[in-house]
Amino acid sequence: MSGGAIAAIAMTEPGAGSDLQGIRTTARRQGNGYVLNGQKTFITNGQHADLIIVVARTDPGAGSRGISLVVVETDRAEGFRRGRNLDKIGMEMGDTSELFFDEVFVPADSVIGGTEGRGLHQLMEQLPKERLMIALESLAMIEAAMRHTIDYVAQRSAFGERVLDFQNTQFKLAECKTEATIARVFCDDCVARLLAGTLDAATASVAKYWVSEVAQRIVDTCQQFYGGYGYMNEYPIAQMYKDVRVKRVYGGTTEIMKLLIARTLEA
Ligand SMILES: Cc1cc2nc3c(=O)[nH]c(=O)nc-3n(C[C@H](O)[C@H](O)[C@H](O)COP(=O)(O)OP(=O)(O)OC[C@H]3O[C@@H](n4cnc5c(N)ncnc54)[C@H](O)[C@@H]3O)c2cc1C
Repeated sequence: MSGGAIAAIAMTEPGAGSDLQGIRTTARRQGNGYVLNGQKTFITNGQHADLIIVVARTDPGAGSRGISLVVVETDRAEGFRRGRNLDKIGMEMGDTSELFFDEVFVPADSVIGGTEGRGLHQLMEQLPKERLMIALESLAMIEAAMRHTIDYVAQRSAFGERVLDFQNTQFKLAECKTEATIARVFCDDCVARLLAGTLDAATASVAKYWVSEVAQRIVDTCQQFYGGYGYMNEYPIAQMYKDVRVKRVYGGTTEIMKLLIARTLEA
């Protein structure tokens, strides 16, 4: 949090994103440590990270129980290379990068928790928090989009009236406000659950799936009220339009969230 070191979590590979069990990066036991080989992609902070948690197979024959989280300190990792900072359609403020590991040696205590094979379990424990964070980012964007848009339509006129005075504008923004209110109440409840230690995977998935989908709808609806100005980069709503799209994808796609929710349908 002090900014003294930048961290990244490297799960995704060119051949495996949603299906983490398909990862091919390996951490082979050697002497008093491990040797990492593989490739990651789409890694946030990849260009700057001092410390990367790499999801790797420590036991290729053990399926989901053969995956571990291995910490790499980049300043002392010979064989580690940062690839391209990928060219995205939005979220330009952060890098999204390729990473390469070619015979990278790390000491034995680099395996988080000190025991091999617990990686997927450790991820499952922490991913609800990441998913709630993405729901909260989406909620913040919903609320910002509405604030900007209400200010805009209150000062913009057409046919001798404020755009805010058209019934269409009022009805659409009333719908947005309704969904924004529901999203806020639900997210606040999830934060309370997180603090109480009771936020389960399915509830976090409900938040991530629904609030990110609502955010995309609301940003799109709001942008329409700007007319051509909404397509111009100088207006924050245009940036939001580009940034909101990925919230339905990263941290687990909407479809994967639905799978996690569906697992709880039967008692
Ligand atoms: C800007 C950005 C930042 C990112 N940051 C990180 C990061 O820091 N660390 C990291 O590890 N990853 C990161 N990612 C990767 C991200 O988490 C993945 O892109 C995401 O999980 C989807 O994986 P994929 O791209 O391989 O898509 P795929 O898994 O190939 O999915 C393609 C499509 O198939 C659907 N699908 C897959 N499986 C099923 C199924 N069983 N049922 C129905 N539909 C299915 C998906 O929902 C999707 O629509 C980032 C991605 C982006 C774009």
